Amino acid sequence: MARVLVTGAAGFLGSHLCELLTDRGHSVIGMDNLLTGDIRNVERLSGRDYVFVKHDVTNYIHVDGPLDRIYHFASPASPIDYLKLPIQTLKVGSLGTHNALGLAKAKGARILIASTSEVYGDPLVHPQREDYWGNVNCVGPRGVYDEAKRFAEAMVMAYHRYHGVQTRIVRIFNTYGPRMRVEDGRAIPAFLSQALKNEDVTVFGDGSQTRSLCYVSDLIEGITRLMESDEVNPVNVGNPVEMTIRQLAETIISITGSSSRIVTRPLPMDDPKVRQPDITRARAILGWEPKVALREGLEPTIAYFRERLGI
Ligand code: UDP
Repeated sequence: MARVLVTGAAGFLGSHLCELLTDRGHSVIGMDNLLTGDIRNVERLSGRDYVFVKHDVTNYIHVDGPLDRIYHFASPASPIDYLKLPIQTLKVGSLGTHNALGLAKAKGARILIASTSEVYGDPLVHPQREDYWGNVNCVGPRGVYDEAKRFAEAMVMAYHRYHGVQTRIVRIFNTYGPRMRVEDGRAIPAFLSQALKNEDVTVFGDGSQTRSLCYVSDLIEGITRLMESDEVNPVNVGNPVEMTIRQLAETIISITGSSSRIVTRPLPMDDPKVRQPDITRARAILGWEPKVALREGLEPTIAYFRERLGI
């Protein structure tokens, strides 16, 4: 059993990761500054081999005792959040990753960092394979997230090559499930809360842009497999079933039995027009592929949103 640090532990993915790791008998230290994380996600872990430390990882990270694994998940991740928090987003991706790598080196721990499909920007290659270098506007509004994550990947590889640190990089594609914040601003939380309240569902642009949506349990399973694999190069983890955003809005309205109608809003600048992971590498190296279909994954997600909204 390992002693594991998870940064971003109070976030959507971080909290699911902490839950799975403690289920498997590991001893987990969860760290978060609660900038976009929610303390309620952490409280549900009480009674397990779990401690929470409130800390901003852009500052030096101190952990007492040995560490075997570090999952570095701290970062604003919704476009709305990183537009509101551009400097913090850049700092956690760069300084936060540097501190996490320094800790991994000092403790002899293996470290996995959460990278993103955003490293591919508005992609000119479709679906996206890991050997595609991407199409990112570094001075655009999304550049703060995309470039921070690209820098983080470069820093990880430097620590691996120069210091021999055991590193792993997961490129996470759009993921959904319980514990996404109602006000998160991403498509699924926005559409679900609008549909459940019978309010207008806001599709940006003409809704022809595509995304491929992965249920959280599939994603977390893929990530823990990557951590325990020997793969140092980046690995896409996501669900390759692609749909348009308009189809997603229609599906959510239909499943929730909502009387909402779809309205359109301007497409945000640099919003990727297509996105679909090529998961050939994950299938081959991790023996992993997603199992949960969208309709199946939406059920517990809707139940969670109903509870949060009191509907
Ligand atoms: N989107 C939308 N309406 C919303 C929120 C998002 O049409 O209320 C669109 C957004 O423009 C993008 C897609 O849904 O094309 C997915 O956006 P999200 O914010 O979930 O994350 P992204 O994949 O862009 O990082």
